[in-house]
Parts: sequence; structure tokens; C-alpha cells
Amino acid sequence: MKLLLGALLVIVSAAWALNLLVTGGGSGGSLPWVIRQEALYISGLLSIALMSLAMFLSTRPAWLERPLGGMDRIYRAHKWAGILAVGFAVLHWLIEEIVGDILKAMIGRGGRIPKEKDSGFLEVMRDLAEDMGEWAFYVVLVMLAITLWKRFPYKTWRITHQAMPVIYLMLAFHAIFLAPTDYWTKPVGILLALFLAGGVYGSLHSLVGRIGRKRQVNGVVTAIEKPSRDVLTVSCQLDNSWRGHRPGQFAFISFDEKEGAHPFTIASADRGDRTITLQIKALGDYTRVLGNRLEIGRSVKVEGPYGRFDMARQDAHAQQIWIAGGIGVTPFLAWLDSLQGKPRQISAELHYCTRDRTSDPFVARLESSCASLSGIRLHIHGAQQGETLSATSVASTQDGSRRSEIWFCGPPGLAEKLKHGLRSLGHNKFSFHQEAFEMR
Ligand SMILES: Cc1cc2nc3c(=O)[nH]c(=O)nc-3n(C[C@H](O)[C@H](O)[C@H](O)COP(=O)(O)OP(=O)(O)OC[C@H]3O[C@@H](n4cnc5c(N)ncnc54)[C@H](O)[C@@H]3O)c2cc1C
Repeated sequence: MKLLLGALLVIVSAAWALNLLVTGGGSGGSLPWVIRQEALYISGLLSIALMSLAMFLSTRPAWLERPLGGMDRIYRAHKWAGILAVGFAVLHWLIEEIVGDILKAMIGRGGRIPKEKDSGFLEVMRDLAEDMGEWAFYVVLVMLAITLWKRFPYKTWRITHQAMPVIYLMLAFHAIFLAPTDYWTKPVGILLALFLAGGVYGSLHSLVGRIGRKRQVNGVVTAIEKPSRDVLTVSCQLDNSWRGHRPGQFAFISFDEKEGAHPFTIASADRGDRTITLQIKALGDYTRVLGNRLEIGRSVKVEGPYGRFDMARQDAHAQQIWIAGGIGVTPFLAWLDSLQGKPRQISAELHYCTRDRTSDPFVARLESSCASLSGIRLHIHGAQQGETLSATSVASTQDGSRRSEIWFCGPPGLAEKLKHGLRSLGHNKFSFHQEAFEMR
């Protein structure tokens, strides 16, 4: 993600700098006004390029999963591109509103670069673009605030977020009519046009409801179990167009048109019969009441599969350490399921962290799955039993003679604690693969 966003910032800045070198900046203006003008352009360029990327990534482009590391990472890149875009938009607004006033007060309007003026239609559009940019800016500021304010209810946030394609189109309109006319014949303008094309595609795709459409299939709920007070096991039979899944992948599941889709890992292996099983933990408003609303025979819409938390990506020469925290056990359940009855033997340390090992619904299932897989050494860590997993205990199972690969799915705080702890213990020969269960 950092590489993608960093590359975007460098490429856009380089195109802007090249243009500045060739044209020498605004003609007829004094240096402070030229600097202000160019700062306005580069902040605007970076903001709209990042916003366009965020818009494009929101279309869930499955073909980008491989280079970007999975749909959870695509969502993270989408989120950070949006946050940075608003950051540059704030800068753009400050330069326009505040720096302009400061310069006027300090050196006067004398050396100010005259605005591009056209007559008729184009001028009307420029005025409109200025207003639109400003209104859209205020809306994205509010959107950013509620995105970062984690206590803001997800459902309401998701509804308000649906306004983003329209807001983006307003910002694109602003950029098209207020970018300097001579940009459009230069590399910087071509780059801007490419970003705008990607962003407009993303917005329209979203507005006509086509996101993920090609990967959507219908199905029916065939079994429901409640292995514990807060976990629901749901099995579904999907229709013929389901393309199958790899163990560890997830899908967007919609049991209820009004509620919309929620992402859940497919916690079973693909048996080629188009059945999937989900383990759903009551973590919020909807998942808490789902058990009372679901019944066998209910139709379900499934969009997927997505994700790269995939055993096929494991390095056969590296030591395997698998760590599951709470409901983050679901991809590992699918992995273990897929290994049953297979001649291929995998060797791994599997750590499962749970609040209470005595009442946990997955402990018995893990034990029985691992009983037939001699290469998997299962370690259960019950917090209430005083068995919390630490970097030291992970390190004690690490084989110092080779690299280890840690596959982690669980609370982000635990992941950070383990990564940091292992590094401070001097264990640097490991790679860390993490599935994020959070998209906002
Ligand atoms: C890739 C992935 C795989 C997951 N696999 C599982 C699983 O196997 N089992 C399981 O129990 N949970 C899983 N989750 C988490 C699950 O999606 C949320 O717990 C569930 O959506 C919460 O919905 P809610 O309305 O009950 O909670 P809320 O209180 O509304 O939301 C709690 C949090 O859940 C997330 N969330 C809620 N609704 C959505 C949505 N429509 N789209 C995306 N995120 C949402 C948000 O981060 C939100 O902050 C997974 C999440 C992701 C991203």
C-alpha cells in the first residue's frame, strides 16, 4: 500500500515539476504569487489523483488482488488514498483562501498571476467548478471526520459513504475546468486525464450499482447451528455460477437486501459441491440479531470469493507459524479442512488465542482437525486460564536455522504486539502475513 501511494505521489509530483521546468511557472507574476499558484496546482493535482485512485479501488478490482496483496489491502489502500486526498484538499483550500489573503496584505495584489479568463460558456463553467469544488470539499471533510471517528455507527457511515461517487464527480468537474488549459497538451495533463478517467469509471460503476456484480451468485441457507452463545454457523448451497474458492478466502454475504452485504471468511474447504460454511461472531448490531432472523431455506446473495490469505502462497522452505485470535480462526478452519485426507503433509505451529478455552466453540473442532494432521502442532492460549500468547512463546517455537512465515488473523493490536515483540527479541528472519477483518 505504501509503495502504491508513494509511487502515485512521486509520479504526479514529477509530472508537475517537469511542467514547471518547461514553462517556468506563471508568467507575469511576482515570485511569491508564482509559488502560491504552483502550490495550489500541486496540492490540487495530488488531491484529485489520490481521490481518483480511492474511487477506482472502491470498485473491488479483483485483478489487482495479486499485485496489491488481497482485497483487504485494496480496501486499506482505498481508505488511505481517501485520507491523504482530503489532507491535500485541506492544503489546497488553505493556499487558496489563507495564503492568498496573507500575500494581499503583505505585498499587495500587484504581482498576482491573472486568472484565466474566457467568455461565455467556459467562464460560467469555471465559476460553477469553483463553487462545486468548495461544497464538495466541505462534504469530504465531514466524511473524513466520521470515518476516523470509530464510534460513529458503521451502518450510518456506509449509507453516508454512498454519496462519495457524486462528491467525486463534483471534484472531478472542479479539476477539469480549473486546471490550467495548457496542462491538457502536456504529460501532466495526460496523467490527470488518466486519473480522472479511472475515478469517473469508479463513480459511475458505483452509481449504477455494478460493483462486484460479476462475482455475485444466489444461494440458499441449508443449515444453521449455534455452537456457542455468540457464534452462528451457517451453511449455504450456492447456484451453478459459483466459481469455487480457495481456503482462506472471504465473500460478501447478504442475507437481507435492506441490510446489505457483510464480509465473512468461508470457513470450509471447497468440496466442489458449491457449499460454503460461515462462522459468524456476534460482534455488532447486525451480527447480534442475525441468529433470530435467519431460517433454513432463506435466500442469500454471495459476492466473491476474494482475498489472498491463501496456503498456496506459502513458502515451502520457510517454517510455518499460524496465529489465530478469536473469530480470526475462520481462515485456519478452512485451511485445516482442505488438508484433511490429502497426502500432502504440512508442518506448522498453530496458535489459537481465545478468551476462555473451556467454553470456546472452536477448541474441540481444532483439536479434532489437527488429530489427523500430524504435521500441525496446535497450541491453545486461553486468556482466562492465564495463557496469553507472547512474542517470547512464538519465538520459542521458531526454528532459528531458517526463515519463518507468520500467518496471522485476529485483533490488529495483538499483531502489532507480536511483531514488535519478535523484533525486540532480535528475531528478524520472519515475514508477517495478516488478514484484516476491518475495512473502515
Ligand atoms: C475480510 C473479512 C473477513 C471477515 N470474516 C469474518 C468471519 O469469518 N466471521 C466473523 O464473525 N466476522 C468476520 N469479519 C467481520 C465481520 O464482517 C463484521 O464483524 C460484521 O460485518 C459486523 O457487522 P455488524 O453490523 O454486526 O457490526 P457493526 O457494529 O455494524 O460493525 C462492526 C465493525 O464490522 C465491520 N463491518 C460492519 N458491517 C460491515 C460491512 N457491511 N462491510 C464491511 N465491514 C463491515 C466494520 O469494521 C465495523 O466497524 C470479517 C471481516 C472482514 C473484513
